[in-house]
Amino acid sequence: AADHDGAADLCRVRVAVRIRPKNSDELAQGADFDTCVELQPECKKLKLKKNNWASESYQFDEIFTENASQKRIYQVVAKPVVESVLEGYNGTVMAYGQTGTGKTYTVGQLGKEDPSERGIMVRALEHILSSISLETDSVSVSYLQLYLESVQDLLAPEKTNIPIVEDPKSGEVSLPGAAIVEIKDLEHVFQLLQIGETNRHAANTKMNTESSRSHAILIIYVQRSVRLKEEESTSTYPSVPEHIIPDDLPLVLKSKLLIVDLAGSERIDKSGSEGHMIEEAKFINLSLSSLGKCINALAENSSHIPTRDSKLTRMLRDSFGGTARTSLVVTVGPSVRHYSETSSTILFGQRAM
Ligand code: ADP
Ligand code: MG
Repeated sequence: AADHDGAADLCRVRVAVRIRPKNSDELAQGADFDTCVELQPECKKLKLKKNNWASESYQFDEIFTENASQKRIYQVVAKPVVESVLEGYNGTVMAYGQTGTGKTYTVGQLGKEDPSERGIMVRALEHILSSISLETDSVSVSYLQLYLESVQDLLAPEKTNIPIVEDPKSGEVSLPGAAIVEIKDLEHVFQLLQIGETNRHAANTKMNTESSRSHAILIIYVQRSVRLKEEESTSTYPSVPEHIIPDDLPLVLKSKLLIVDLAGSERIDKSGSEGHMIEEAKFINLSLSSLGKCINALAENSSHIPTRDSKLTRMLRDSFGGTARTSLVVTVGPSVRHYSETSSTILFGQRAM
């Protein structure tokens, strides 16, 4: 997987590392603060550090220091995926990391008051809304939570246990029964994401668990009318090759983007945990390890991507590999106190390279 210019590189998952700024506890340590990573952002590398020891350098597609803005993260990590979704391909953007390292900040921050704070979900929808014409095209969303291998609807919380169905012919994945809401403007986006967040919190309180134990998945469906090649137009509609234009027009291009705030990657201490926590640990480990296997298989250009092992990877199946573009942000904290979690997060990200 060292050849970064080959054709195989196209379907590989692109991985960026983002380090969170020090929080108040870490700032309070002053000169006693000890970091566990050494960033080399110019050459897109980093080393793990502990006491006087440093690891070899790990190469990534991008290294974001604690000063990287939300805008820059969007431009580097998500924008190329959104652009390809606007051209009719599926795509996935995911955040992976230990709880408290900035996954939700990176993908889910609303930034209603302060636009500079907006995360990937809001920016992606903003980008799509400004790139399509609502007269001929549409953008809709579903917002789901995956907990204990059960899919719940965050926009219609009475719906639980939503099935994941794969069309045997097209391979298209769908979630029958999940609410799909057509979006009209950015205000509507804030409303829906806020409803989803509130429902996620309520559902988790009811189940007596934390949101860090579940995956949150926003699915953005885009439908665009495609213009004929000979039609002189200044619009940004993608044109399709003549040979696939049928006689009965209009032709509609359908694609989707999955934005995933993954469950916390930390090892859960099973000793003394209650029954449901052991179940949680088992299922989180199952979905994240099966995601790791798929990412690894893509990196090795394998003909078999083992997506059937967990609901998470079954949901991603048609938006992952092949013609779909996938980006992963792995988030880490700066403190050596979390060395082992940081190290396992970095190694997870390396599986894609
Ligand atoms: P996670 O979702 O991985 O558990 P959060 O996104 O909730 O982590 O982040 C934990 C805390 O750190 C939050 O208060 C969040 O606002 C803050 N935070 C995370 N990343 C950043 C960042 N890059 N800049 C500023 N604050 C951040
Ligand atoms: Mg979170």
